[in-house]
Amino acid sequence: MNLHEYQGKNLLKSFGVTIQEGIVADTAADAVAAYKQLQKDTNTEWAVIKAQIHAGGRGKGGGVKIAKNEAEVKEIAGNIIGMMLKTPQTPGGVDGPGKLVNKVLIAEDVYAPDFDACKEYYVSVLMDRERKQNVIIYSTEGGMDIEEVAENTPHLLHKEYIDPTLGLQGFQMRKVAFNLGLSGKAFKDMTKFIANLYKAFVQSDAAMFEINPCLKTGDDRIIAVDCKVSLDDNALFRHPDLAELRDTSEEDPTEVEAKAVGLNYVKLDGNVGCMVNGAGLAMATMDIIKLSGGEPANFLDVGGTADAARVEQAFKIILKDPNVKAILINIFGGIVRCDRVAQGVVDAYKNMGNINVPIIVRLQGTNADIAKVIIDESGLEVKSATLLKEAADAVKAVLA
Ligand code: GDP
Ligand code: MN
Repeated sequence: MNLHEYQGKNLLKSFGVTIQEGIVADTAADAVAAYKQLQKDTNTEWAVIKAQIHAGGRGKGGGVKIAKNEAEVKEIAGNIIGMMLKTPQTPGGVDGPGKLVNKVLIAEDVYAPDFDACKEYYVSVLMDRERKQNVIIYSTEGGMDIEEVAENTPHLLHKEYIDPTLGLQGFQMRKVAFNLGLSGKAFKDMTKFIANLYKAFVQSDAAMFEINPCLKTGDDRIIAVDCKVSLDDNALFRHPDLAELRDTSEEDPTEVEAKAVGLNYVKLDGNVGCMVNGAGLAMATMDIIKLSGGEPANFLDVGGTADAARVEQAFKIILKDPNVKAILINIFGGIVRCDRVAQGVVDAYKNMGNINVPIIVRLQGTNADIAKVIIDESGLEVKSATLLKEAADAVKAVLA
């Protein structure tokens, strides 16, 4: 689950990380009120108006603008709220439809008063799955596209791996500050910044924290100007306060609907819908679809109970995707008997009445032979298969 910039900054602040202060607003009038309040709280003269969407590159797309007075705050906030913001990271990129902006963050101008004395850095924390360790990635080349830095000047990207049994050590924080070329107050501030950032990452069960830019001001303070936070969904039950920050308007509507009925569904770009019980089998099924020349349209794990009601829910979710040209149902009947699943598929198919894509059902396990007969004798546009290979060939045939 991703957080908005303002939510991520609040989280960081609660762990003692210094942030660019700001107040969120969803109307131009609120933005002006926020600006006035911010001027009292921080002595800032100008304000930075920042679109709150789950995508980076907002600056380049016109979603981050400086306002020098109340009138400009009103005008800029009014323009940004309600706009479809296009950045390289919104769906379809800069040529896509963009993302609707519902909120803006009115933030203090932390580059003032000496813009030229400011320096932007890059700092992120994430989990390196291959090394099985958390890693702090940092660079002097902040403020820009980090993928570009990694591609063109990889030697300017540093990594500090953290031993899970020891945790982040003092020498590692100092190493980060040293490699960023800092000294004096900025050096000390950076070690504190890294310590608190890492604590926030671990204690909130995050998958990624990215601070870009992390700013050194003219008077040597270290400040998180931007913040991208991704939390581990599987640990959200430990953080009900963070779980509440979910913004479903930023998520795929079909995925939100699937989650509400307890289906594990992830939308993909292909043309073959899949309905499978078990995540491992679902992964294998997607591989088989690829091998047979198709592209999976989704990942869908229906879980242990594949009865008619459940199959029907799954059909509905899969068929919301207009790209689906065929559906492969792959169920292993261990606890759930295959004949029950087969009857479920037939009942759901008849009940829905509007399924107009071919369906291939591969049932294996308890009572698979009875299941095959039920499918074959249903008289429906449903093909049965017992072996995975047969199912793959059937998919290939209907796509041809
Ligand atoms: P992103 O484009 O989505 O990554 O959004 P950022 O929050 O990183 O903002 C984009 C850029 O706006 C930053 O790289 C800064 O150069 C600029 N910016 C952000 N805050 C301030 C500020 O307080 N003052 C000034 N002058 N520029 C800022
Ligand atoms: Mn940024």
